[in-house]
Amino acid sequence: MWIGLDDTDSKDGGCTTFICFEFVYRLYQKGYCLRSYPRLIRLNPQVPWKTRGNGAVAFHIGKRKGGKILFGRKNDYSLYLDPDASSKEIDEKEIISLLKEVLNKYAEVESEDTNPAFVFVSQTFSDNFYKKAVHELVTINEAIEIIKHEKGSYFLIKNGRGVIGATAAISWDQKRDHTFELISYRDEARWKTPRYVAEESVKKMDDQVSSTFDNYDYENRYNSIVPHSPCPILFGIRGDDVSMLPLCQKMIQSEQSIGWMIYISNQGTDDHVKMKNISMIEPFQSVIVQGNVSSIPSRTKGGHIFFKIKDNNGDYIDCAAYEPTKEFRKVIERLHIGDYLEVYGGIREEPLTINIEKIRIIDLVEVFEKSENPLCPVCNKHMKSRGNNQGYKCKACKTLSNEPVIKRKDRELSIGFYEVPVCARRHLSKPLKRMKTEIRL
Ligand code: ATP
Repeated sequence: MWIGLDDTDSKDGGCTTFICFEFVYRLYQKGYCLRSYPRLIRLNPQVPWKTRGNGAVAFHIGKRKGGKILFGRKNDYSLYLDPDASSKEIDEKEIISLLKEVLNKYAEVESEDTNPAFVFVSQTFSDNFYKKAVHELVTINEAIEIIKHEKGSYFLIKNGRGVIGATAAISWDQKRDHTFELISYRDEARWKTPRYVAEESVKKMDDQVSSTFDNYDYENRYNSIVPHSPCPILFGIRGDDVSMLPLCQKMIQSEQSIGWMIYISNQGTDDHVKMKNISMIEPFQSVIVQGNVSSIPSRTKGGHIFFKIKDNNGDYIDCAAYEPTKEFRKVIERLHIGDYLEVYGGIREEPLTINIEKIRIIDLVEVFEKSENPLCPVCNKHMKSRGNNQGYKCKACKTLSNEPVIKRKDRELSIGFYEVPVCARRHLSKPLKRMKTEIRL
């Protein structure tokens, strides 16, 4: 049986993965198990009602027969996957009451924007629902129709909007590019207090285990494995090689954790972006657009940088590198009218603007700049400027000229990809480090 779950946390605390962790532990105490890695699926990052990273979870449960793949631990209890677990003998009533027990304890239901839901179904749904939910807005009814069509069940709390994420996480096809994340959880007594995770140990792990990504931002001194919210997560380590993650966890010096679990995920895959013509773009989508830079990038007082691009159909859209993208803005400021780019990012509604996550420079125009005043053809000496836009004059023989000596400007940019720094990176954005290591089953 597949179970999907979402929308249990709020800005003040909670975390859907923590509910998954507690629930999975209780399942094991009752003789159940997971048949494959639990899923942490990020959905459309432009959804206006998300709490933080728009993540949902799903997992495939069965009655335990054995299992040797260690994927988590709570205190001294080890959690093993059992791919051969039986899909029979599952007592749905028992599972529902266990899940409700965990939700009652840990879901932030009092928060106005928390609308939990869980979904049960025997087979995964078609991947089409995931593809839509990761890229654009979908409705609660669309999710419910799919569940009904597949004879699944759903449980909604309050408006139950979490049913969208819960359904999408089950419908994600694991043959897609994927990564893993090991999440370590805090002792409840420490929740909402400052976390202790030694930065030096994170840097060392980052340096030694090349299959991990987005750990530390050296330029901005930002420890990216630690959440910056009051949730129960101590840290999360992302990587391509699942076998390395338990070892990575041991390399991190931190406060005592109560346990950890490894999730399979669509994080770092660029699943959210779709190539679009500008005329087809709608608010709340994430896109890839190809076009020529058509206005000089300009910086606002707040440090945001804006420019326009024009696609091959002659349509325009604004692009923005906001202040939190830090040094990435220097790249954007070097762009010049005519440069041909691919821009990746999420769409802000009013006015339609691409919030840039990365760019690929496909072609750079040649830019020329004045290097010196012209030489007089008679005297062979540098002429003097006659003032703004008034040309040049030789002091000795009075010869006039309009043309200074020009040279090709060093663009200080190359063809290829440029991405925002780790501190500004979206969960779904594929880091350049992963561009060549994409893994598919
Ligand atoms: P966290 O990442 O900390 O778990 P969150 O950012 O996932 O929190 P949620 O509390 O889950 O935020 O809220 C996101 C809500 O948006 C959920 O109810 C989810 O079902 C819904 N949702 C997800 N994707 C879409 C979508 N494409 N269209 C409409 N609603 C969506």
